[in-house]
Amino acid sequence: MSFIHKIRKRIDRIRFKPIDVYVFHSVSPTFDPRCCVEQDWCSTQNFKDAIMKIKESCDFISLPEAYRKLKHNVFRLKRYAVLTCDDGFVSALSVLPFVVEQGIPMTLFINAKYLDGKSVREGYSECPQYIDADQLNSIRSDLITVGMHGYEHVDCTCLSASDFARSVERCVNILESHPRFIPYYAYTWGRWNDTTQGVLKRMNLIPVLCDGATNYRYSHGISRLCLV
Ligand SMILES: [Zn+2]
Repeated sequence: MSFIHKIRKRIDRIRFKPIDVYVFHSVSPTFDPRCCVEQDWCSTQNFKDAIMKIKESCDFISLPEAYRKLKHNVFRLKRYAVLTCDDGFVSALSVLPFVVEQGIPMTLFINAKYLDGKSVREGYSECPQYIDADQLNSIRSDLITVGMHGYEHVDCTCLSASDFARSVERCVNILESHPRFIPYYAYTWGRWNDTTQGVLKRMNLIPVLCDGATNYRYSHGISRLCLV
């Protein structure tokens, strides 16, 4: 790397502070194996501690605001963070009052099929419980937005382009009537390939990844880190 290139990179690090986008899944005071697998769970206390710690050094902004800053290379002399929640487990509702009280925007990535209050994910029995349509529609805060996590919670890299497109379309059709729907699609388990990217691009949806990276600029999706 040339000297000039190194200097430019250093200046860019000052002008464009990274944006960390965090994801969590299930949160409750104690772990209940009927509600989720252990790697998807965090305790309510750890969740709150992690949020307060991030707040010491970052301003929380919404996902669309983060995308705008990254996509258009908006100067970022301060560090920003974004909060997202995947899977739509009902336990996530228990931390909404805290999130809203802290003035933190948050995006819930939902599997539209499970909003009927009875469908469950393949491989699970009746648990975990999912947020249903009434619960989703009764969230009043403007801070909470709704994105997509697929119609069902399946590995979209195993689907053909047409099956994936159909699944995304079903998800859009159900969720787009939500007043705070945003056109962002969080890949299940963070798995994606050129086919899935092509489908989302054609449908004007923004991919959200789960690659453990932070964001300096937008390229092919928004990177995310696990909250705890
Ligand atoms: Zn998921």
